[in-house]
Amino acid sequence: MPKRPNLGRVGAGALMAVAVLALAGAMADSSAAPFRAQLDFVPAHNGVSLTTTRPAGPALTDEARPMVPMGRGAIHVPIVMYHYIRVNPVPGDQLGFNLSVTPDNFNQQMDWLKTNGYHPIDFDDLRAYFLGQSPLPARPVILTFDDGYRDLYTTAYPVLRAHNFKAVAYLVSGFLDAPNNVTREQVVEMDAHGIQVGAHTYSHVDLTKTANAELTRQLVDSRTDLEHLVGHPVVDFCYPAGRFDGRVISAVQAAGYQTATTTQPGTQHSVADRFTWTRVRVSGGEGLDRFAADLSPQEPTVVMKVSAQPRVPVIPRLTLVYPLELPRVVLEQAVELRPLP
Ligand SMILES: [Zn+2]
Repeated sequence: MPKRPNLGRVGAGALMAVAVLALAGAMADSSAAPFRAQLDFVPAHNGVSLTTTRPAGPALTDEARPMVPMGRGAIHVPIVMYHYIRVNPVPGDQLGFNLSVTPDNFNQQMDWLKTNGYHPIDFDDLRAYFLGQSPLPARPVILTFDDGYRDLYTTAYPVLRAHNFKAVAYLVSGFLDAPNNVTREQVVEMDAHGIQVGAHTYSHVDLTKTANAELTRQLVDSRTDLEHLVGHPVVDFCYPAGRFDGRVISAVQAAGYQTATTTQPGTQHSVADRFTWTRVRVSGGEGLDRFAADLSPQEPTVVMKVSAQPRVPVIPRLTLVYPLELPRVVLEQAVELRPLP
């Protein structure tokens, strides 16, 4: 065998250095619990701390366009509630029917939003607005998907991407990877492409009927699981089956969440009612006229220029810690290279 050139040793050394650095970085990230400690907390607003977990606000441009200007205390931002995007497989199942929007109808609704100047935002955008960091685009709307059914990934997500729309997935962390639910890999992919992850408990229990210790576990475990999966804070919550009371709200706040949505109808939201934000239910079967009417009224806009200079402080996104095996693989390669002649 030809003698290995000296360069090989240099290359191996460099590779090993890279590997060690990668491992050190990975270890620093994985040991940096809790994630919240790494957040740049924004000073209290109306006595409450709100944060954005990722860069928020409209796409930066120097063009003048209609916007919802900053400074309004309560604004109309419909938070649309979806469950399944599918043809209901059991025709006689009325509950299943009421939770299912067909793929065709969903596509038509997304087309309608685009044609009519709606701009899907996420909860980071809404937080940035209430913090006075950023205006909102005209006709803001938040598209939420409850429970993390598999068709969120297979059916809704491709349509959302085709429309370049943001959305929010309220996930039940204990159901991930179940046959009818999204997988962890799918969540990581969606999170990287505009689908904000919110929590919906660990096992979808009625929180008003849950004892204190279990209530805390449902709220904290689901947040922690999801944060470890996506590698950044998860601070938005949704009450399973819309069930909540004063005790549940207090527990949700204590568990570190910053917002929570209900199933009660309404479109206007403020910081003060951020733990009981109302939503617009899409039950499936309603026509586009009904869909449109449920989103009204529209928040008035003014034509303004959004500076291309980012004003929103960008909170650094934590390095992805999933899959956790990666650093070990890198290290093994480095060790194998060490005994080169
Ligand atoms: Zn649910």
